[in-house]
Amino acid sequence: MAKKGYVEINSDRCKGCGLCINACPQHVLRFSDKFNDKGYHYAELYDPDDKCPGCAFCYYMCPDVCITVHRVAEERV
Ligand code: SF4
Ligand code: SF4
Repeated sequence: MAKKGYVEINSDRCKGCGLCINACPQHVLRFSDKFNDKGYHYAELYDPDDKCPGCAFCYYMCPDVCITVHRVAEERV
């Protein structure tokens, strides 16, 4: 499937609250195994099947505005 969207998460600012993970309808967000400098397991995108459409639910849920959503323009033939 062609990629429709993806997110970038500012791992330094993430406080690991998990609100974005719970909100994601595609279940493509998870906690990283790694810690950030604040000592939190930050959220990360794991989307090997390109399920993220860039719906931005995670963006609206994040209280710290850590998430940037990208939508990939469809190629026209
Ligand atoms: S944009 Fe939508 S599908 Fe993509 S990670 Fe955020 S909530 Fe999940
Ligand atoms: S909602 Fe924001 S602060 Fe909370 S885990 Fe997700 S990116 Fe981190």
